[in-house]
Amino acid sequence: MKSIDDIAAALQGYDPQALSVDQVHAFLRELVQPLSAKESQDVFLMDALGRVLAQDVVSPISVPAHNNSAMDGFAFNAAQLRPDQPLALRVVGTALAGKAWQGKVNAGECLKIMTGAILPDGLDTVVPQEFCQIDSTHDVTTITIAPNILKAGDNRRLLGEDLMQGQPALKAGQHLTPAALGLVASLGLPDVRVHRRLRVAYFSTGDEVLSLGETPREGAVYDSNRYTVFGLLTRMGCEVIDMGVVRDDPALLEAAFAKAAKDADAIITSGGVSVGEADFTKAMMKKLGDVAFWKIAMRPGRPMAVGRIGQSVLFGLPGNPVAVMVTFLAFVRPALLRMMGSSAQTAPLLRAKSLEPMRKKAGRTEYQRGFVSSAPDGTLQVRTTGNQGSGVLSSMVHGNGLIVLHHAQGNVAVGDEVDVMMFEGTI
Ligand code: AMP
Ligand code: MG
Repeated sequence: MKSIDDIAAALQGYDPQALSVDQVHAFLRELVQPLSAKESQDVFLMDALGRVLAQDVVSPISVPAHNNSAMDGFAFNAAQLRPDQPLALRVVGTALAGKAWQGKVNAGECLKIMTGAILPDGLDTVVPQEFCQIDSTHDVTTITIAPNILKAGDNRRLLGEDLMQGQPALKAGQHLTPAALGLVASLGLPDVRVHRRLRVAYFSTGDEVLSLGETPREGAVYDSNRYTVFGLLTRMGCEVIDMGVVRDDPALLEAAFAKAAKDADAIITSGGVSVGEADFTKAMMKKLGDVAFWKIAMRPGRPMAVGRIGQSVLFGLPGNPVAVMVTFLAFVRPALLRMMGSSAQTAPLLRAKSLEPMRKKAGRTEYQRGFVSSAPDGTLQVRTTGNQGSGVLSSMVHGNGLIVLHHAQGNVAVGDEVDVMMFEGTI
């Protein structure tokens, strides 16, 4: 395990007083490591939604298991098709989905077939019933296929076209989405091997911070950070350990950090990491752990403590409610995903035309809360969500993404394209 100093020493131009967002990412990639696959567990498919695969799912069967029909129609051998000539075929039976049709289809013959029914050997093409003329006299039904409307292989699903037996259907690191659950089920597998849930403990610090239910008093604020952090972690599928509000008291802080480090893979605190903060939070982090205190060239955010206490990774976030969410989305979320064993890539940034001018200082990354919508011409446009103060949570509530104004970028004029990190579904 590398120490904070080791990681810092290997990072080009590391300056804890002025770290760029990119340097923070590079640092965190070194600091956090994926959970060991040794701690994985088998869970029933329906309990696996949102979990991360700890090993590849190898397909025990081919899907589909047979060549089959993609349409209701008539199956035949396409070698009989001639350009510019109609083809007449006698119907010799009906193949239904769910059971193999027994019999032989000779030249000049075809088989009535339903969607999903197995294509008998020798038949390679299906003509949809609405594409042919059907004539019945006595017991004999014939179809006539108009020329030049079909080619060999049309309306046929090939054996293994979705998945081949013995091949990995899903790779370790895959998040089990609804589609992934369906895919595993299509292989007949009732359970999957997933990483254990990441355990994340969190608490808020600050003497001015009130728990819900406490009587309001002058100068105090209700603790909103624990609720946003709870929601963000829960959406990620973490096991959350809520440790409440911890008062600015060395003994209480020490006990809280010690318990969190014992129980959790990661610890998230909010508040108490700003410059000139007259509290014991930073001192206790320093005493108990291997921790760096940063000023990041970003807005909102800026102060942040990162390191380890015991085996747990520590994220000491600033106190301001919007800064907590932004630093979580920018840094904590990708780091936790890495710890969870997830191979999820960061979502691509969208480009949208700004509906407003934005003042921006080069030399830091700024995250404005934005609302992206479609312009009448179908392109994307974005506006900010009112007051962008770092304590104004409603700016997050009414937004659907963060406008990312990059480190080197300057002022934005109306109509300029900007990058947006969408957060719908994440927060
Ligand atoms: P700090 O980073 O501790 O200086 O806090 C910055 C601002 O965030 C102050 O106005 C705090 O009152 C506020 N704050 C700190 N913790 C919380 C919290 N858990 N919930 C809401 N606001 C908070
Ligand atoms: Mg404080």
